[in-house]
Amino acid sequence: MVSYKELGLVNTREMFAKAIKGGYAIPAFNFNNMEQLQAIIKASAETKSPVILQVSKGARNYANQTLLRYMAQGAVEYAKELGWEHPQICLHLDHGDSFELCKSCVDFGFSSVMIDASSLPYEENIALTKKVVEYAHKYDVTVEAELGVLAGVEDEVSSAVSHYTKPEEVVDFATRTGCDSLAISIGTSHGAYKFTPEQCTRDPKTGKLVPPPLAFDVLDAIMEQLPGFPIVLHGSSSVPQEYVDMINKYGGKLPDAVGIPEEQLRKAAKSAVCKINIDSDSRLAFTAAVRKVFAEKPGEFDPRKYCGPARDLMEELYKHKIINVLGSNGHAE
Ligand SMILES: [Zn+2]
Repeated sequence: MVSYKELGLVNTREMFAKAIKGGYAIPAFNFNNMEQLQAIIKASAETKSPVILQVSKGARNYANQTLLRYMAQGAVEYAKELGWEHPQICLHLDHGDSFELCKSCVDFGFSSVMIDASSLPYEENIALTKKVVEYAHKYDVTVEAELGVLAGVEDEVSSAVSHYTKPEEVVDFATRTGCDSLAISIGTSHGAYKFTPEQCTRDPKTGKLVPPPLAFDVLDAIMEQLPGFPIVLHGSSSVPQEYVDMINKYGGKLPDAVGIPEEQLRKAAKSAVCKINIDSDSRLAFTAAVRKVFAEKPGEFDPRKYCGPARDLMEELYKHKIINVLGSNGHAE
């Protein structure tokens, strides 16, 4: 048993309370390699933004849970070395799908876990979430739950349709489970193809797809039911056109990739939405930078020469999100 407190990590409780009061949201960035982690920590340290490092089941399989845990521990020390006196870094399990997985993360030094039982029937979701909460809270680890189902694919989490969270269920769910935050479905989804071209309209000038707006009426109704309760948005990448264009220009093929417009996320961040998950955008930045190097310097075979530029581009992306979209900069001196 390792406590996250010994590792210098923090849970999400205080982070979220401050974010709701302050009208901003905490970035939750997924990581599964060193370059991503360096970019996240540099961006957070330089902007003094609290940050959530997310590890998905897929990341655990790819990079090994033990290694990722020690990387997060190293990240705290790295942040201090960068001059961030009091790093506010949370290590969070993204989309935990069983009690055993959540327990193993709690036991292993994670400061927060998500139990995603949203695909189960309502009562089963409550029972499993409650079980995880009871265990995690013994160790002061915070728990995110999910109600409503997102469209799209993120690792093994998939669902063809999006079912918005029912506002009339949230009080009962939060009360009976004791969860610390709630991921809701209001039209965001996982991946770089959040909407089909049929769901979008086309900008007559640019020919680019314009996605339908998020269901802010559902969010408002949820906030009315649960005033001041931390709300989480998954699948909130914006799929920046510049990265998609770079990827396509240098030999990639991402036709009609479309994400959530940043002004909608900016609006959400000012509300009780206090955690916004961003994964696909950093994958796109990484891929765009690597493709550019490969296209322009076909003789390059030193991974540092293409992972380095990828890291720089991701750092730029993370800073942009922190400062211009979530507004979390300066909230963790
Ligand atoms: Zn997710």
